[in-house]
Amino acid sequence: MQGVDLHTHSNISDGTYSPELLVQAALEKGIHTLALTDHDSMDGLVLAEKVAKNQPIQIISGVEISSQWSRPSTNKSYGVHIVALNMQNLASLNLLLEEQKRIRAERAKHICDLLTPLIHIDIYPDVLSKVDGEPDRITRTHIAKTLVEKGIVARPQQAFDKYIKEGKKAYVKFDGLGLAETIEVIHQSQGFAVLAHPTRYDLSATNVRYLIELFAEYGGDAVELPPAIEPASTRQMVDRMIEQCNLKVSVGSDFHGDNMPWIRLGNIPRVKDGQVGIWESFK
Ligand code: AMP
Ligand code: MN
Ligand code: MN
Ligand code: MN
Repeated sequence: MQGVDLHTHSNISDGTYSPELLVQAALEKGIHTLALTDHDSMDGLVLAEKVAKNQPIQIISGVEISSQWSRPSTNKSYGVHIVALNMQNLASLNLLLEEQKRIRAERAKHICDLLTPLIHIDIYPDVLSKVDGEPDRITRTHIAKTLVEKGIVARPQQAFDKYIKEGKKAYVKFDGLGLAETIEVIHQSQGFAVLAHPTRYDLSATNVRYLIELFAEYGGDAVELPPAIEPASTRQMVDRMIEQCNLKVSVGSDFHGDNMPWIRLGNIPRVKDGQVGIWESFK
């Protein structure tokens, strides 16, 4: 599956490349199957498709949906990202994305309102200017970058660690659709549901295994393989769960352009013998 990248961001969400530039960069890297998976938006798809026309690259429709799940034994709900791929009819999904965008816009304002008394300035106008004045595109990455620009923190990571990650004073949960419903909507649009970066949610190993089981139980299709930089034991645990739950695999770099310069477009983990790629099911 060399030449496949099924998880990438453009500046429609928190990447820095335009959709057009992203496709151009993918072509230069010899990527032939590319999914643009912005946070809760498919607005970049037509732009990407325009550049890809008559070029040796297939653009797979995609979006990274902010969802949530919980353990029946506790009341706590956990955020989770579901990458939807290869949708054929967008009616159901578009309705969901409209609601997600509304939640995203309100949450961004809420986060900035919580920050104001902590940092003694209102950064909302500056944050909004980063997304062409479209509040439904604001991610915490934009807020973190603004905090750096204002000299409040030195690096974006510090903005998360000090203010906006879970447990911090300006954290606001993304109260999106539940996991089962999210998978259902993706299937109504004839797409595939992929559990994004299962080991990147600050969950215990027990909870990661539980999440993968729950995802399979709800009809999810594939799990993203952890990047090669993660420990071998982590990858082995994910591989075991994929096999046990009879799930397919997906591969993506989670490219964000210059916002995360250490991530390279098209840099994807190796697929193990016996694992079935979700891309083999694409029409
Ligand atoms: P949001 O969807 O608004 O919650 O923003 C989530 C995005 O923020 C993720 O896709 C990452 O790009 C980035 N992000 C989340 N957590 C962290 C973190 N702890 N450090 C740096 N970036 C993060
Ligand atoms: Mn992101
Ligand atoms: Mn994600
Ligand atoms: Mn992502």
